[in-house]
Amino acid sequence: MRRRSLLSKTGALLAGGMAMSVAGSGRESLDPSYRILPDTKYETGVFVREGTSDGPTAMVVGGIHGDEQCGYRAASEIAGWQVGRGKLVVLPKANRVAIRRDRREGAHGDLNRQFPTGEKPETRLARAIWGVVERHNPDVVLDLHRSVGIYGYHESSVGQMIWPTDAGNASEYAKRTAEELNGNVVPWYMPFHEYRRGGELDGSRPMLVHKVAGDLDRPGYIVETTEFFLDADTRVQWEKAVATDLLSRHGIEQRGNR
Ligand SMILES: [Zn+2]
Repeated sequence: MRRRSLLSKTGALLAGGMAMSVAGSGRESLDPSYRILPDTKYETGVFVREGTSDGPTAMVVGGIHGDEQCGYRAASEIAGWQVGRGKLVVLPKANRVAIRRDRREGAHGDLNRQFPTGEKPETRLARAIWGVVERHNPDVVLDLHRSVGIYGYHESSVGQMIWPTDAGNASEYAKRTAEELNGNVVPWYMPFHEYRRGGELDGSRPMLVHKVAGDLDRPGYIVETTEFFLDADTRVQWEKAVATDLLSRHGIEQRGNR
């Protein structure tokens, strides 16, 4: 039986040569819809997924901090979605320089301190990223991050938090998504790892999602998943689960789901 299933598997793989090479080499091989800052060290892809019918536009960003793998790995998986309705815009690896270095900061410091409300973003990369926001005019923006510890327990850690903007239903949705994760994803024996809603982001700090609140007055979220006692793959799964649930509350679902 084993031999037979192995053979049929091989046959399927050979028959689907193109599909296999895509699956085999990972999401990286998916072509982006376009690239920002082409032919520079910051060059990075934007993936635009249009549904078959009209609907809201959502934007997902990962890799603002280059050492936060779960954010850009989750975003890279979401970049491969097909959506039923609406439009999904994904910038999975916002700061390629920082990601290559596996450091929080890129060439010009902390990218998530370069988005002041009411002003132009401070660096070329930040301006290009905000340009993607302006180009697609999203109804909601998710920014995926990783924390070292747990908020309230470890100093200056923001793990297991979902920070909503002070716009629309973001605060209520962040609360419901946290409840959903805690009920169905985070095991009961890991109470420290329950997700919680953070205070509302209002544009008072120069972060991407703060600017979504301050300049656009739209729902947005910073999602923080901790590396404290969680292995890398679990972090990616949980981060993706949070993003999937938030996107669904805003009317964007992976085609074939639910
Ligand atoms: Zn971060």
